[in-house]
Amino acid sequence: MQNARDRLSGPAAKNGEGPGVLVESVSSSSRAGKAGFRPGDRILEVNGREVEDHLDVRFHAALGDWEALVKRGEERIRLVVPEGPDSLGGLELEEFRPRLCGNRCIFCFVDQLPPGVRPSLLVKDEDVRLSFLHGNYTTLSTIREREIERILEQRLSPLYVSVHAVDEDVRALLLGVRPRRPLLPVLDRLLEGKIEVWGQVVLCPGINDGAVLEETARVLAGRRPGFLGLAVVPVGLSDHRRPDERLRPVTPEIARDVLDGIDRLQREFLVETGTRFVFAADEFHLLAGRPIPSTDEYEEFGMLEDGVGMVRDFLDRFEEALGEWEEGPPAIRELTVVSGALFAPLLAPLLRRAEEATGARFRLVPVKNAFLGAGITVAGLLAGRDLAEALAGAGARGHAAVPAEAISRSAGLFLDDWTIEKTAEKAGVERLHTLHGPEDLFRLLREGRSPEGGAGDYPS
Ligand code: SF4
Repeated sequence: MQNARDRLSGPAAKNGEGPGVLVESVSSSSRAGKAGFRPGDRILEVNGREVEDHLDVRFHAALGDWEALVKRGEERIRLVVPEGPDSLGGLELEEFRPRLCGNRCIFCFVDQLPPGVRPSLLVKDEDVRLSFLHGNYTTLSTIREREIERILEQRLSPLYVSVHAVDEDVRALLLGVRPRRPLLPVLDRLLEGKIEVWGQVVLCPGINDGAVLEETARVLAGRRPGFLGLAVVPVGLSDHRRPDERLRPVTPEIARDVLDGIDRLQREFLVETGTRFVFAADEFHLLAGRPIPSTDEYEEFGMLEDGVGMVRDFLDRFEEALGEWEEGPPAIRELTVVSGALFAPLLAPLLRRAEEATGARFRLVPVKNAFLGAGITVAGLLAGRDLAEALAGAGARGHAAVPAEAISRSAGLFLDDWTIEKTAEKAGVERLHTLHGPEDLFRLLREGRSPEGGAGDYPS
């Protein structure tokens, strides 16, 4: 994990005791089942190559038939899976244990979390495999030669790299350690090997903004097209961080300066290369009080997961969903909608228009983040207890809806380990729905329940 913006619901780590890769389950009707695999087997080699995780197995078994050296108890046996479609189908392999990071980033959000958070949030992973599989950011600061060769051989692309600064001294200051090797030579090897890279800068005012950011953007833009784009996100500072005078929050004034600098770079890059390349996270626009850029300005929305373009995407999808509303009474006539403090001013006029179109009544409840601190304003980092308190304080009853990004998809828990049921109960609402986007809001009004596949529709 890199900072406040990163995905807060990564895969559950398993222990992976012993060598090779554990077979957790196997369907007897699958090719692997017919070849003789059993739960509890450990795959040591595939086609003569040692394997250490399921990615290795999938890579080496991808073409044609494959032979596995398997450890079963004290025995070692060889199993052959004949060539054919989906020769790995029906074989469930263990998840790997993430490699942990060796950095001590001065802004690390894990170090800023209070007691009582979901335990999975405390894992400091730094693993190119998670970068490839789930888009987690990695610094590459401790990457070993073997890992670089594996990325190139297995074509683990695209990767997501926390750059922060191309100036190695600034980078070392931010990472809290001197990286094992400089970033650019590693990046260049990956890019030469046709690995594509998305980059991220966690912007810390006075450290890697201004001329440092400009140099970083220019150097990386020079590595297009393999280097796909650069997201600039504001440092997240919770109330629970250790005092560090080097860290300052992004103020509205700083946000405007950053946006001005990025705007200049975008214009230049667009003329020279046909792409804006560097993009500011939505928080900068919201903090600065500037208009949200148009859809075109986000190009392909390649860094949506970084909070770059999420607001524009929401606004566009809201318009579309509103336009598709068909006349008729809504199934839910009153709904309390919860939002992060920064986004609430943009959401309020949208809800008023939705009221006119649907006949439903909305109550908007902006939630201050007391759990982490008022400086944390994004919806994805809201705690169950803050939501419950805000809803109860607003006198919410009946149906209420919260942004789905505040809840871990795998665990169904808020940041503070609260379940949706507990949050609904403490809030005093009858039903607490989770909304993945504006379409869910209108579907909820139309059908009276959260969409299938969402985490919502939890009775208290
Ligand atoms: S120390 Fe740095 S690299 Fe490690 S988890 Fe924290 S922010 Fe990520």
